[in-house]
Amino acid sequence: MPADHDLILQKLILGQSSAQSVLFYGTEGAPLDQWADRLARGWMCPQPVEGAACGECPVCLAMDRRSSLDYLPIRPWGAQRLIKLRAVVAGSNDAEYDAPPISEFVTRSPFQARVRVVRIDDADRMNADAANALLKMLEEPQARAKMILTTQQLSGVLATIQSRCLCLAVAIPPAPEGLDAMTLLFSEGTPGLLQRIESQPAFYRELYRILEELPGLGPSGALLGAERFRDVEKLWEGEDWTARAIHAEQLRCLGLWVRQRMPYAAPLIQEVAQVHRKILGNAGWSLQTDPLFCALFRAFQTKELSAVAK
Ligand SMILES: [Zn+2]
Repeated sequence: MPADHDLILQKLILGQSSAQSVLFYGTEGAPLDQWADRLARGWMCPQPVEGAACGECPVCLAMDRRSSLDYLPIRPWGAQRLIKLRAVVAGSNDAEYDAPPISEFVTRSPFQARVRVVRIDDADRMNADAANALLKMLEEPQARAKMILTTQQLSGVLATIQSRCLCLAVAIPPAPEGLDAMTLLFSEGTPGLLQRIESQPAFYRELYRILEELPGLGPSGALLGAERFRDVEKLWEGEDWTARAIHAEQLRCLGLWVRQRMPYAAPLIQEVAQVHRKILGNAGWSLQTDPLFCALFRAFQTKELSAVAK
């Protein structure tokens, strides 16, 4: 986000701007979450330091623990991924939404924070009823409550809602200079993935090394290559990821590598994507990767053959 946005955020947090509602928008990969979180914390913290939450007071600590009573995060739910009326005003029960409606939340005084904050992510997923009810609320703002909306589809948010919010575009920050080829490839240029890669350096470096060495294994190297590929899993540090999630991550990286190195092998790219889906669906890891690597090695050769034929 450009420096002037930085300044706007500081002004908002220090109460030098009267905006009650802010809408952050940007394309996929833009750090909407980061900016929305920064504003929410800054608004709530009773003693912000240099235009940002102090990070140390009970309000900030409650936010760290995700247990703040003054913060109401809302995101789409259910099979249709919608934000329905139930989130905005009291109404019929919804088994999948058990938080208080915004209408109740904003009329109560803050427990600890300076102001109460409602955050609505993917605001474009509000259905018509919810959007219209929210619009009414934005037209009559409460003194001690503020709202933060985020969206990757600005056109999906009512123009009347946009006009009641301070709308701030969030750009994808340029990839830091000096990124190596592996990080550039696996991070797909997004900050979230970059962070993930930096937090597991051994895993990603080894995965990249294995992939780069595959063509050198020769025509009969498929099973050896598959085995080495699977072994990389052991380098994942920490226990927060399930084996299935790590396998899916390995396949995501393999897919990116194949797309970059073997753009001629479209069916193979499809096959990697298919195995990725099957692994997420709990298919056997070796059972899926052995044939995939056989196909990969066949594709290496096809390329060589087609080069000879020319
Ligand atoms: Zn604080």
